[in-house]
Amino acid sequence: MTDSANLVVAIDGPAASGKGTLARRLAEILSLRYLDTGSLYRATGLSVLRAGGDLESEQDAAKAAETLDLSTFTAEDLRSEEAGVAASHVAFLPSVRAVLLGFQRSVAANPGGEFKGAILDGRDIGTVVCPDAATKIFVTATLEVRIKRRLQELKGRGEPVIEARVRDDMTARDQRDRDRSVSPLKPAEDAWELDTSDMNADEALAAALDRIRGTGPL
Ligand code: C5P
Repeated sequence: MTDSANLVVAIDGPAASGKGTLARRLAEILSLRYLDTGSLYRATGLSVLRAGGDLESEQDAAKAAETLDLSTFTAEDLRSEEAGVAASHVAFLPSVRAVLLGFQRSVAANPGGEFKGAILDGRDIGTVVCPDAATKIFVTATLEVRIKRRLQELKGRGEPVIEARVRDDMTARDQRDRDRSVSPLKPAEDAWELDTSDMNADEALAAALDRIRGTGPL
């Protein structure tokens, strides 16, 4: 699936586990192309809402995925809670996943000449998108820690914050991601689990770098 000279790192984990920050920093240090696959699902969900469609409709969501134009969304649009919740609805639908799978695999296989490979983060990278990845990391943190991180993130962006709402949204999203039949959130059998509950971002980065350098070609 991927050229052997091309290093692929798969990072999976639940919402606000710290996987996005970790993946972005690893990409920079290791000269890898970074693909935040959650943003594809977020953009698909928002596209359905913008078109006045139904998030549960396979037809509406598949059309949105097929015609996705990421340039029409700002980073703020994509990181909003609304986008995260919409994403977890469309992510349930097999035809949406099938459309987005091709794009994710093509980035992993052809990250671009200036990169040594690619790092993708999401829910099913190690299990479905890149099962042959050289290193697979499954990032976790307790629900309480993840809620705290998400609240801080939202406050930092000046978004209105209602703790009970964030808790409910995150719990429901975790459940939808874990329980769906297609590509559920779960560690690959050969994934290394990194619990970041008691770590800051620098500590998580150092642990992941040790792991990648110890087992991989970098
Ligand atoms: O990682 P992020 O929170 O941005 O993902 C938003 C949602 O997109 C997740 O809750 C999940 O439902 C979906 N997703 C997915 N598979 C991926 C990445 C994200 O199902 N590889």
